Amino acid sequence: MPMSRFRYTLNEAVGDPSAWTFTWAIADDVTLASSCGFCGQEHQRLTYEVARGDVTLWICQRCVGRYPVSGVIDGDRFDLPSVRAYIHGLTARQKQRTCQDAIRKVQTALPDLPLGEIVVYFERNLQLSPQHAAALFAGMAQLDDPIDPRIFEVQTRSIAHQDEFGSLDERARALVWPALTPQQRRRLASLGFAPGGARTRRARTSDRRELPAPRMPALSEPAMLDPLPEPTEKSTA
Ligand SMILES: [Zn+2]
Repeated sequence: MPMSRFRYTLNEAVGDPSAWTFTWAIADDVTLASSCGFCGQEHQRLTYEVARGDVTLWICQRCVGRYPVSGVIDGDRFDLPSVRAYIHGLTARQKQRTCQDAIRKVQTALPDLPLGEIVVYFERNLQLSPQHAAALFAGMAQLDDPIDPRIFEVQTRSIAHQDEFGSLDERARALVWPALTPQQRRRLASLGFAPGGARTRRARTSDRRELPAPRMPALSEPAMLDPLPEPTEKSTA
């Protein structure tokens, strides 16, 4: 087992997680600069505010899925599955808002770019088709403050979408590639659609920082928070 593996241990000051209550505030830090007040893990994208008395902390998705933090809505204390379902809904809406904000920024900065169809498509599917992704990401790359395309999900499940990706020119495929999951990349690479120079194997040391894994469930799919992969080593350290 690698020694550097992060163990998701609770900071001692946290005490009993169930003494903390969600405030239902959620933060989407697309720069991945947030850290978790429970476990200390850094480079977090989504964090959730919890309170105990006057003290508040922002905690990571793993800790949300791991610890029985309390949830109260309209004075009623929710059971754990209901808390998790509610958090899942908040998360999906937050991710949708983040994408909508990104589209709006492109619309404002590049009013001549025809984005109307893309907006309609995104609102309907909460994902982008490969063609729409290429057009939008090209716009995003022109912003003074470029937006990371990985906030979007791109559809490649159907043959039609795979072919659509394959029909994009080299530059467009390279623009969309970073937003694809490793599974999507493997599939498209096996069809010969990988943009030139794209690596499909993991190159740990030189890869760009990835969004926190496991990836959030797709907005369009009802899914529970990811179960936690327990480290296999038996250690109490
Ligand atoms: Zn955490």
